[in-house]
Amino acid sequence: MEQLSARIRRLSGSQTIAMNQKSRDLQEKGVDVINLSVGEPDFPTPPHVKEAAKKAIDDNFSFYPPVAGFTDLKQAISRKFAVENNLEYSTDKILVTNGAKHALANALMCLVDEGDEVIIPAPYWVSYVELVKLAGGASVIIKSGIEDNFKIKPAQIEEAITSRTKILLLCSPNNPTGSVYTRGELNEISEILTRYPNIFVISDEIYEHINFTGKHESIAGIEEVHERVVVVNGVSKAYAMTGWRIGYLAASTEIVNACTKLQGQFTSGASTIAQKAAVAALSGDNSYTYRMKEAFLRRRDLVYKLAKKIEGMKISRPQGAFYLFPDISAFLGLSFEGKKINDDNDFCLLLLENAHVAAVPGEAFGAPGFIRVSYATSDTRLTEAFARIEKLLKKLQ
Ligand code: PMP
Ligand code: GLU
Repeated sequence: MEQLSARIRRLSGSQTIAMNQKSRDLQEKGVDVINLSVGEPDFPTPPHVKEAAKKAIDDNFSFYPPVAGFTDLKQAISRKFAVENNLEYSTDKILVTNGAKHALANALMCLVDEGDEVIIPAPYWVSYVELVKLAGGASVIIKSGIEDNFKIKPAQIEEAITSRTKILLLCSPNNPTGSVYTRGELNEISEILTRYPNIFVISDEIYEHINFTGKHESIAGIEEVHERVVVVNGVSKAYAMTGWRIGYLAASTEIVNACTKLQGQFTSGASTIAQKAAVAALSGDNSYTYRMKEAFLRRRDLVYKLAKKIEGMKISRPQGAFYLFPDISAFLGLSFEGKKINDDNDFCLLLLENAHVAAVPGEAFGAPGFIRVSYATSDTRLTEAFARIEKLLKKLQ
């Protein structure tokens, strides 16, 4: 409709959400779809977190919250940073948001001016480029390949920097590739940034706890750049709370105040009940999170083994998050029942319609020729999904 704003007409919808919807529609029609599209833990929220939410309702936490979040939640987040990340963030440097996605949107809206450039390593999470677009900025994509475990080389960042560069957007552990940056690599990136004092870093650490390589490293822990880093995180993945919509960011007070001003006009803050639940999540012990991570690690090994068996599928071994990102380009140009598979979109449609397995085309992550498979589902369903995929791919000509 032409009357809609140019802004919204330029915006693309989220392909992860679109694929999830397609899969739900088919399920509603009675089709046994194995949905490996959307990325969310398949575990229920821990019982003590649910209890805290029930108590918050009974205690009448039904009024508007402070825009930047309840103090007890900001204190719990501050403690989490101190204990888990050795980072010192006082509560005035913390903002509670409606999910990590909203924290990213806030930060980009508050930092990006018309024409500013945001450097984004690809493959990247679907929403980054669209959020940058909404903020009026331009994404500058730097590419990484499967042979490098999808990690960019620091020199690529320097090559991409111009006088308009405002932000470097990092995501580790990464969605969609599962790659994890080491402290050494983050040091190298920071070294470059010390030569460009006007560039900020947005560090998306939502998969912090799903890391199979050991300790999580945050670029905010590097003193030389600390002041310029906006850490984005949340409870969605670590505590199986995707639907509760609580995220947060930590940054300088100037950035937090700016985001609070924006949030005061946009949302009046995040749900009171969910905030109280998040206090319980962040204040409890992490044994539930640890058990989920163990399950994801087992499944990572399972899907890696299953995908490796499929002739033509090229894979790297993810080090975190819960996604596999295979190169399926060997199948492009082939046909199924006379219908040619031209790209990763066609490939995902083929999987959905003929194997009843939902995955997301790599193009949505800036990586055509790949697909993203979420392995946040049971071992049995994963085994069944790969058996279906293998059987179907054998029929391609
Ligand atoms: N960043 C990345 C890399 C993600 O995969 C997601 C999806 N959950 C988000 C941010 C947004 O998380 P939330 O559900 O907290 O909005
Ligand atoms: N982060 C999840 C994913 O990548 C959730 C979907 C979304 O928020 O886009 O699948």
